[in-house]
Amino acid sequence: MTETKWRVTVDTDLCIGSGGCVLRAPEGFELDAARQSCPRHAVLGVSDEVLDAAENCPVEAIAIVEEGSGIAVFPPAD
Ligand code: SF4
Repeated sequence: MTETKWRVTVDTDLCIGSGGCVLRAPEGFELDAARQSCPRHAVLGVSDEVLDAAENCPVEAIAIVEEGSGIAVFPPAD
């Protein structure tokens, strides 16, 4: 059985640089010089903190899909 991995992206057109994701998941996100959030790793293991950050982003700029299958983790598929 292979370990599930997530692919995390931030839509920089949406990100308002609130920093919430960095506070909730400092190992998952950092702010760049322009106060845009960047995933520290494009692909990472399943993380409650990263999911919490995505769920609480005020502008839903964070997307998570399962690596390989592309199944949406957040925002969830309809
Ligand atoms: S919580 Fe959302 S808006 Fe705030 S820095 Fe992170 S991605 Fe950007």
